[in-house]
Amino acid sequence: MTSDPPAKLPRAPVAPALCANLPEEWTDLLASWGEPRYRALQVFRWIHKRGVMDPEQMSDLPKSLRARLAEAGLCPPLAVSQVLASQDGTHKLLLQLRDGRSIESVLIPRGSPASEGSYAAQPETGVEAGALPPVTQCISSQVGCAMACTFCASGIAGLKRNLDAGEIIAQVLLGRAQLEGQGRLAGVVLMGMGEPLHNYDAVARVLRLLSHPEGIGMSLRRVTLSTSGLVDGIDRLAKDFGGHVALAVSLHAADDATRSQIMPINKRHPLSELMAALRRYPVPPHRFLTIEYTLIRGINDSMRDAALLARTLRGLRVKVNLIPMNPVAGTALQAPDPATVDAFQEALIAHGLDVFVRRQRGDDIAAACGQLALLGEARKVKNPFAVVE
Ligand code: SAH
Repeated sequence: MTSDPPAKLPRAPVAPALCANLPEEWTDLLASWGEPRYRALQVFRWIHKRGVMDPEQMSDLPKSLRARLAEAGLCPPLAVSQVLASQDGTHKLLLQLRDGRSIESVLIPRGSPASEGSYAAQPETGVEAGALPPVTQCISSQVGCAMACTFCASGIAGLKRNLDAGEIIAQVLLGRAQLEGQGRLAGVVLMGMGEPLHNYDAVARVLRLLSHPEGIGMSLRRVTLSTSGLVDGIDRLAKDFGGHVALAVSLHAADDATRSQIMPINKRHPLSELMAALRRYPVPPHRFLTIEYTLIRGINDSMRDAALLARTLRGLRVKVNLIPMNPVAGTALQAPDPATVDAFQEALIAHGLDVFVRRQRGDDIAAACGQLALLGEARKVKNPFAVVE
């Protein structure tokens, strides 16, 4: 994997997220500037097919148009400030935003141990021999998170701000560039920092951008959105995208008392409401919902919890992803011992469920679930695993 030299972005007033414009919006904007129609797709393709967000580099556009685009605020909304490589093949990108804040995105090669039990594990068809290895990218939707789950670093940090659609899609554009020649972006998971359905409009726009055939062109079935259970958002997603976006839900407990204790969102949308929304979600044939269940010692890891979970999921087409809790600073919560994890998995399998255990991956670079924090602030120190080739 290549690594660009660490980039520093000049601070700038937050510009309109022009790199998140859809082609028809470019058509309108450029028409208002008196430009011919075909320029709209040209600009869109520069950004989304080629990953070029700096108008200066759009070499087949007239100089005057490039200048106008720059003046209107088209520019890369974030830059890769560091790339950390885990021993298991996972790479974490530290990304700097224009307001000086940092976010993170993780590249997870499939077929490496890191992808075992991965969320976007739908089989691919038509992969040619010799094709580049598939990589799933995990992206962030907010700086921090407002959901305040007690076991999650982003939740403990709290919400700093929403990312705009440009800042979200640019993670993918930079991630894809990072893979160049060595991996193929085969899936995107909205499982980084933030609650994607708490930033719905920006995320919905990103879904349209990701799947646009003139741009990245990724099928929405390769995009997994993970939510802590915002019921209105789940319904909106179903309405706007017809169930084509793969949905993952962080359940983590099958009784309201336990769930409310570790996930405050459960007080607003208790399990009965959430499960009803999942039953309404129009999962296409041969597809399934992903249920994420972070196992926390002494909280949700008993045989009774497993039985309750199996009962709650009855009749739903699901795969269960068990995630032994990854260590997080600021909480004493921890993973059960491996025998308990195995027993929990076995109990669910005995109830006829499909269950993966997602063991700690990328944890040597704090890239595992729940460990993405506001590192730009907390850990400026260069990590010994940093690859700068
Ligand atoms: N807000 C979204 C995306 C969050 S991160 C959501 O809640 O689904 C993706 C997954 O990692 C979620 O299932 C989340 O609950 C889980 N997670 C958070 N902290 C964790 C930790 N410390 N150990 C293991 N999994 C964790």
